[in-house]
Amino acid sequence: MIDGIAKIEESYIDKIYEIIKDKNLTATVVTFGCQMNAKDSEKLLGILEKSGYSIIDDENKADFVLFNTCTVRENANQRLYGRIGQLKNDCINNKNKIIGICGCMMQEKDEVDYIKDKYKYVKLIFGTHNLYDFPHLLYETIYDIYVNNNEKTKTIEVLDSSDVILEDLPQHRKYPFKAGVNIMYGCDNFCSYCIVPYVRGRERSRSSAEIINEVKNLVSNGVKEVMLLGQNVNSYGKGLDENITFANLLNQVANIDGLYQVRFMTSHPKDFSDELIECIKNNKKIARHIHLPLQSGSDKVLSDMNRKYTKEKYLDLVGKIRNNIENVSISTDIIVGFPTEDESDFNETIDCIYKSKFDQVFTFIYSKRTGTKASTLPSISTDEEISKRFDELLNVTKEVGTKQYEQYVGSIFEGLVEEEDSVPGFLTSRLSNNALVHFKGDKSLIGSVMNFKLDECKGFYYNGSVAN
Ligand code: SF4
Repeated sequence: MIDGIAKIEESYIDKIYEIIKDKNLTATVVTFGCQMNAKDSEKLLGILEKSGYSIIDDENKADFVLFNTCTVRENANQRLYGRIGQLKNDCINNKNKIIGICGCMMQEKDEVDYIKDKYKYVKLIFGTHNLYDFPHLLYETIYDIYVNNNEKTKTIEVLDSSDVILEDLPQHRKYPFKAGVNIMYGCDNFCSYCIVPYVRGRERSRSSAEIINEVKNLVSNGVKEVMLLGQNVNSYGKGLDENITFANLLNQVANIDGLYQVRFMTSHPKDFSDELIECIKNNKKIARHIHLPLQSGSDKVLSDMNRKYTKEKYLDLVGKIRNNIENVSISTDIIVGFPTEDESDFNETIDCIYKSKFDQVFTFIYSKRTGTKASTLPSISTDEEISKRFDELLNVTKEVGTKQYEQYVGSIFEGLVEEEDSVPGFLTSRLSNNALVHFKGDKSLIGSVMNFKLDECKGFYYNGSVAN
């Protein structure tokens, strides 16, 4: 069945190619949000490239602009509308310019209706559940423009759910030496502030055979590092016929010949098992970095967020990870200003940051997301109080993170060289623990694994030198 769908979708790619092959068209995908969206965008770009588009990085110049949206924060919608609004004149001057929108935000009917009403020049809309059908929907749009001379004006298709996940359509990877691999889709956790379970659907894991196959293929095409992706990778395997845990899968992936390193994202603390800690400890090909979203250090707020762990359980877990995995770094996400958070709750969060010694903290001010349980709760704090807490949070995370980074100055670590630095003649490398090292080097080194001496700590990165 899936094979049949893949063939049909590929046939649409061929049909698009036949229509546009002599037209010299360009395309771009603008990505908002998380790693999962970035991964989806690689697939969308791959399809566009195979259909005959040249990929560029300029939404004003591109003949086809696709916005892959995120809806985790309400102000993300406003950012999107700003960007689409700026393209209005281009679309008026060029009737063949296509603006498309896909991703999580399109799973919300009100947003789709708003776009249909206010941005009539948007020609293509689809959601997260029919991303696999992009070649077909793009074909309909292209056919209408170039064969039917804009008779129909719009192609809109958003599904409420779907079991179809196609992984083997073309992909356009940003880096030739590293790649993301989806191991599961959706989320069953219903954290009270989060819209993801509503727009991405229930958890569905891919079979281990499919995942292993994909990684082997990537490795044979020159990939050195993979990042296993899911909203909650620790619950991988639920609902599959095979009896497999995330730790089993991680070990199997790490043991693939020719693969240098494996990372994963994101972990839910409630499902992080001792088995997984042992697995990371015993397999050096698994990166020494764990992203473990805390969100709040207050038991009351954690319960209101429906996170299903307490501060004590979280700190126990951090202790176990740090005691067992040498040189591990732990990063986290923290939301400040959740509706039921008061000053003493916030102080619990600060206490947790000091005790966990986070290497890096991604900080967010709570933003109400319509459609979630938390959106009905009135805030007990004023904007000024929340803003004051946010400033304090930034100061504490900087203080704690810098101390963590400073402990390794003078040491030598291995890293994968990723890209050119903004300073000419310099490159950036990523260490196993996710820290970045800036060093002097020629761009021919991009994609190599090298040893680096960490000469100087610059807060959240190092200045270093090659140490072979
Ligand atoms: S675990 Fe919670 S925050 Fe993460 S995607 Fe699922 S519902 Fe959202």
